[in-house]
Amino acid sequence: MSDVSVHPDRLDAVAEWDYEADIVVVGYGVAGVSTAIEAARAGADVLVLERTGGWGGAAALSGGFIYLGGGTALQKALGFDDTPENMERFLMAALGPGADQAKIHDYCQGSVEHFDWLVAQGVPFKEEFWGEPGWEPPADQGLMFSGGENAAPYNTLATPAPRGHLPQMADKHTSENGGGFMLMKPLIDTAATLGVRAEYDVRLQRLILDHSGRVTGVVAKRYGKPVHVRARRGVVLATGSFAYNQQMIEAYTPLLINRPAAAIEEHDGIGIRVAQALGAQLAHMDAIEVAIFADPQVMARGILVNGRGQRYIPEDSYPSHIGQSTLIRQNNEAFLIIDETALEEANNTVSSSAAMRSVPPAWVAESVEELESEIGFPAGILQATVEVYNRHAKDGADPLLGKKPQWVKPIGTPLAAYDLRNRTGGFTLGGLRTDLDSRVMHVSGDPIPGLFAAGRCTSGISAGGYVSGASLGDGSFYGRRAGRAAAVS
Ligand SMILES: Cc1cc2nc3c(=O)[nH]c(=O)nc-3n(C[C@H](O)[C@H](O)[C@H](O)COP(=O)(O)OP(=O)(O)OC[C@H]3O[C@@H](n4cnc5c(N)ncnc54)[C@H](O)[C@@H]3O)c2cc1C
Repeated sequence: MSDVSVHPDRLDAVAEWDYEADIVVVGYGVAGVSTAIEAARAGADVLVLERTGGWGGAAALSGGFIYLGGGTALQKALGFDDTPENMERFLMAALGPGADQAKIHDYCQGSVEHFDWLVAQGVPFKEEFWGEPGWEPPADQGLMFSGGENAAPYNTLATPAPRGHLPQMADKHTSENGGGFMLMKPLIDTAATLGVRAEYDVRLQRLILDHSGRVTGVVAKRYGKPVHVRARRGVVLATGSFAYNQQMIEAYTPLLINRPAAAIEEHDGIGIRVAQALGAQLAHMDAIEVAIFADPQVMARGILVNGRGQRYIPEDSYPSHIGQSTLIRQNNEAFLIIDETALEEANNTVSSSAAMRSVPPAWVAESVEELESEIGFPAGILQATVEVYNRHAKDGADPLLGKKPQWVKPIGTPLAAYDLRNRTGGFTLGGLRTDLDSRVMHVSGDPIPGLFAAGRCTSGISAGGYVSGASLGDGSFYGRRAGRAAAVS
């Protein structure tokens, strides 16, 4: 943890302002830029402070999934029916326990409009659906199932609809051509057109309060020197998660110790800590997204067993649900069992996760008995699991876990096992509790005057579960809310 104090400074102790604006946004990632655009459109003079030398944050490096639905123009164009109510039913089941119902309801109701807004800012979406298992589509397809909507048990709770919306990429790879970059670039350009100013290499340290307890500015550091920035109407925190704050990880999400993934080092929890120093309320600090480093095309065609040789999740699930379940409920122990024919079939598919296949199976065997012994399971354990699976699989059914019939085939021989123990990583989802106008709530239940937040320094729509696109989704959605609310505060 940094030894820099997060105790707020008093307004009357500030001798001189280095910068002034109506609204000061801290962090120029997806939440920050969405805030800036809406605040500027509402007539506010906006200044963004960014710790690094340029805009983008984790968002610009990301895959670019934005979780939207309820009947977006893209869903409709590709022939998928969805309603806000259907989307809400799914999200309440998939993002719990403890999901914020008011936020999810609000997000689902506003989702179609939010998609239209992104398009209006210049974010491109290609009208093409990708329906294969995978972390991402292999090319520039614009829509994909990205949360297990079409897998058990969720496909029995709500009508499956794909909601992973992806900005079109020029040439798929991360950084300058990735989906996240193609989301951020038009938003940043829009902000610049609206007159939003940005100052780089400026690192937030703490907030400034007036005599009434209202947030009126920030103290930052640039090249080792303090910088004082006055916010006439409000400060919006958009500094990202705490995935790279070791002490906070140990305190709140110990399962992620030494396994941060899909985050950047600048996500050090500062936005959360400066607001905590004012008495801010936190929510879902234990919530995590978890990736498992395996190709979903291979997983869907095999069976996943835990450290006791038992199946525990439908293998055609959203891979992050598999990751969460493995890390949280299976002691981070998994083995992927697949026969040679199915593995060859998977290896011949197009997949954006093909790189994960380069890790060869840890064991190959002529029989289940032999494989069981190679892995080190007690005799009979894996044989019993495969026997029960195959008994129903010959009829195309998986009555135990509900894997979809298209992926259910008896496991034959020869066969192999991937060692997926300790092959997970993730990022944190908890943070400041905010209301639907992105006002930061005090532990008393009232908003903290002059303080707003959005993105992964807040607790958004995810609690116990996750869907790909929830972070760019709620970050941009509630960033916009923060901008509008701060502009009239
Ligand atoms: C490889 C990868 C793939 C991902 N794929 C997806 C995906 O497909 N869909 C999805 O929804 N999410 C995805 N994510 C997660 C997503 O990118 C983040 O959760 C999201 O960007 C969070 O938005 P944010 O605005 O809170 O943070 P960011 O976009 O990271 O922006 C925060 C900004 O604040 C700045 N900052 C931090 N501290 C300070 C400070 N003290 N002073 C000033 N500035 C500061 C940072 O430098 C950064 O620019 C992915 C992440 C990665 C890395």
